[in-house]
Amino acid sequence: MSEGLPTGHGYVRSTGKVRALTLMIDFPDAKGRGTARKRYAEFFPQTSRWFKRGSYGRLNYRPVAPIKRWLRMPHPFRSYGLKRGSSFEPGYRRLVADIVKAADPRVDFSRYDLVNILVTPNAGPPAARAVLSVTYADNQHAPIADGVPLANVSFVYSRQDDGSGTLRETGYRVLPHENGHVFGLPDLYTPRGGDSAGHWDVMSEDWGAGNDLLAWHKWKLGWLGARQVECVARPGITRRALSPLGRRGGMKLIFIPVSPYAGYAVEARTNEGNDDAVCQPGVLVSWVDTRVDSGRGPITVVDSTPGGNGCTDERNVHPGLSDATFTPGKTFTGGALGTGVRVRVTERDSRGDYRVEITRYASGGGRG
Ligand SMILES: [Zn+2]
Repeated sequence: MSEGLPTGHGYVRSTGKVRALTLMIDFPDAKGRGTARKRYAEFFPQTSRWFKRGSYGRLNYRPVAPIKRWLRMPHPFRSYGLKRGSSFEPGYRRLVADIVKAADPRVDFSRYDLVNILVTPNAGPPAARAVLSVTYADNQHAPIADGVPLANVSFVYSRQDDGSGTLRETGYRVLPHENGHVFGLPDLYTPRGGDSAGHWDVMSEDWGAGNDLLAWHKWKLGWLGARQVECVARPGITRRALSPLGRRGGMKLIFIPVSPYAGYAVEARTNEGNDDAVCQPGVLVSWVDTRVDSGRGPITVVDSTPGGNGCTDERNVHPGLSDATFTPGKTFTGGALGTGVRVRVTERDSRGDYRVEITRYASGGGRG
């Protein structure tokens, strides 16, 4: 998985109608408690709504649960040996093969674009102890059912409960994260946690209060039109108005490439749309490096207040980056590989758009 464009063909298309086969499974040693329908209702319709809002209606995410009851696996949960970070071989291959065997009489796998496996929450450790939820994407060697490989499958375990009493509203957010992988998005968190991209993208932090995707990810997913993205590739001054990412329409992303594989992304973030946790609205600047692997920090949000404590006390929101945005009057100055970049936020206009002035120059000459 890479931040690069275009996304590889083996991932799932992220625009138009996408049919998500959703199966609820349990095991002889972890029998489903409560109904499978209730497990399903932890994620839907919330997940479909999140995608609809985040994509400005471009992704029509249709979950389908042809089997309404728990689908019992033939072997105990512990026999598959599934742990955090397990590779597909051998445990998940066995589990996927067993899922196919159990569901195949009632499911035509060829009719779906992706598969969600909602595991009974009592199988495996609580998510607060170890997150088992995982996605195998673009996995062309997966078991085959009805003539197609189960190449894009998201598994969701346990419940992402942070003890704040918001589980009912926010517990579904692990699924948009896992599905982000089947659409080709990498992880933005690192072994150190969310200190690379904070709460500015569900691929970085998917616990607690709602968040959106970075504008770069929306561009990669095909959710922004060509006129909503500006590329500042030549030296000079560019003045634009950035519409908050949570709203429909308007310019959403200014990208300043400094090499064929990396550059700065500039976008406006406010407490709108899927962004519930934004405590300092403003202009967000981030560094995108398509050569950096998933989980190693391919996107780094620039902190306008480095070393500060942030503006939030919400759980599971990386505090230091919560006030990373540049507010009117503030300027970001940076650069790389011989290119200097300055982003000045001049004002927030009456429509709520952020006016920015971007200067691109050969570094060493333009800085004065
Ligand atoms: Zn992930």
